[in-house]
Amino acid sequence: MNDPDTAADAGRVVVSGGGVAGLTAGTFLARAGFDTVVLDGGESILRRNAHLENVPGFPAGVNPRLFADLLERGAERNGCLLEAGRVVDLRPEGSGFRVRIDAGGGDGDAADGDAATLVADYVLAASWSDPEYLRGLDSVDLFERGSKTYVDVDEGGRTGLEGLYAAGRIAGKAHQTVVCAGHGAEVALALIEDSSVPFYHDWVAPEGYFTDRGREVPPGCEEIDAEERRRRERESMAVMAEAFEAPHDDEPTTHPSLRGGGEE
Ligand SMILES: Cc1cc2nc3c(=O)[nH]c(=O)nc-3n(C[C@H](O)[C@H](O)[C@H](O)COP(=O)(O)OP(=O)(O)OC[C@H]3O[C@@H](n4cnc5c(N)ncnc54)[C@H](O)[C@@H]3O)c2cc1C
Repeated sequence: MNDPDTAADAGRVVVSGGGVAGLTAGTFLARAGFDTVVLDGGESILRRNAHLENVPGFPAGVNPRLFADLLERGAERNGCLLEAGRVVDLRPEGSGFRVRIDAGGGDGDAADGDAATLVADYVLAASWSDPEYLRGLDSVDLFERGSKTYVDVDEGGRTGLEGLYAAGRIAGKAHQTVVCAGHGAEVALALIEDSSVPFYHDWVAPEGYFTDRGREVPPGCEEIDAEERRRRERESMAVMAEAFEAPHDDEPTTHPSLRGGGEE
C-alpha cells in the first residue's frame, strides 16, 4: 500500500455503491493513493444470498453476510472512507464532478434525508441497481435489458464521460460475486492507468525480490522481510479466526417486493 501521507495526491474518487464491485474497486484505489470515499445507499444484494459456494478461497463456501462484512473491513483497512448515503445527482464541474447525496438513504427525493454534496476528480458507479443519477449526462449511455437498466462502458469500465467509470452489475456484468469483484478491480486499475499515478503493480514481495536483482522496488510494490511477513501472517490469522469464531448473527434479507418495496 502506498504511503498514507501521499494518499490525497492522486485525487479524490467517489465510489457510488458499497457492495461487491464498489468495495473491491475502492480497496484498489485507496491502496494506489486516491482519497477514496465509498458511499452506500442501502445494502449489497450479497446480504440476500443464502450461502456463497463459488468464491475463490472458501472451499466449503462462506456466509455471504460475513463475506460482505469482510469486504467492508478490508476496504476500510486499506484506506477507504465508508459513508452511508445515496447518490441522487451527478454533475460535471471543472475537471471533476459534484456528487449530490441523500444521507437519509431514501429514494432520491431530497425530502428523504439530509442532502449533502461532495466534489470528486473521479466517480466510479457501482450502484446496482440504480443508474438514475447518471441519466441525462452528456456522453453517458444507458441501455435496457429485461426490466433492468445498465451503463454502457468499454473494457476498462470507462463511460463516454471522462472521469466517470462503472463496475459490477450496473455495468452489465454477470450476476456473480467473483465476477463483480474482479470487475471492480479491473475498472479501478483502468482508472489508475488513466490517472497521474505512475506505472502500477500492487504487490507485496519477499525482501530482495527486486533489489537483489539491482532493481528498484516499483511504484505500488513493497518488499518485506521474514519478520514482517510472519507478523502479517499472524495478524491475518487472528483477524480471520475472530471473524469465523461464531456463526453470523444476521439472517438473509429478502427481495424488496416481498418486503413491500419495489423491484430490484
Ligand atoms: C438471492 C441471491 C443469491 C445470490 N447467490 C449468489 C451466489 O451464491 N454466488 C454468487 O457468486 N453470487 C450470488 N448472488 C449475486 C451477487 O450477490 C451479486 O452478483 C453481487 O452482489 C453484485 O455485486 P455489485 O457490486 O454489482 O452489486 P451489490 O453487491 O448489490 O452492490 C451495489 C451497492 O450499491 C448500493 N447502491 C445502489 N444505489 C445506490 C446509490 N444511488 N447511491 C449509493 N449506493 C447505491 C446498494 O445499496 C449496494 O450496496 C446472489 C444474489 C441474490 C439476490
